[in-house]
Amino acid sequence: MVFGDGDGEIFNRFTIAIDVVAHELAHGVTENEVGLLYFEQAGALNESLSDVFGSLVKQFHLKQTVDRADWIIGEGLLASGINGRGLRSMSEPGTAYDDPMLGKDPQPAHMDHYVKTRENNGGVYLNSGIPNRAFYLAAKALGGYAWELAGQAWHDTLCDKSLPQDADFSTFARLAIQHGEQRFNRSVAQSIEQAWLEVGVL
Ligand SMILES: [Zn+2]
Repeated sequence: MVFGDGDGEIFNRFTIAIDVVAHELAHGVTENEVGLLYFEQAGALNESLSDVFGSLVKQFHLKQTVDRADWIIGEGLLASGINGRGLRSMSEPGTAYDDPMLGKDPQPAHMDHYVKTRENNGGVYLNSGIPNRAFYLAAKALGGYAWELAGQAWHDTLCDKSLPQDADFSTFARLAIQHGEQRFNRSVAQSIEQAWLEVGVL
């Protein structure tokens, strides 16, 4: 893995944020378990899974419950003087920064605003906001430590051999609901389903 030093004007060193380091490690897990294609919805899922497990590593490290976590990816990474909290917001995608130098955080939070583009392998860094928010909503509804229920269900889904390499959001969502029920119970599955409904995927 290679992490930049930052220029000190817009970005500080990228190793400042434990979730950014864990994000990269999680790509290795995803690559090994399912090998999600890095393109369009499968690519955005790939990015989102790295944010999910990156954030969970940070929350676990800080022993934070769902309500105490900041749900920001890369907190502390933006140099002082930049108007923003980090690279991405999982709870409110599109609100992480708004700055003359950086522009405004372009992530959509709902399928109504899904970005169709040829850039960045079909907007993988943009559209990951949608599954990111689905995870946040599921974790928030379930409460407690996010890695215990929602995180476990997402991990079971990631390791499910029936998850195809070109999975779209709804394929992942349906499997995640199934795993919520298998690993836990119907009520967990319903919270997961509600989260995906709220972001317009189901
Ligand atoms: Zn990534």
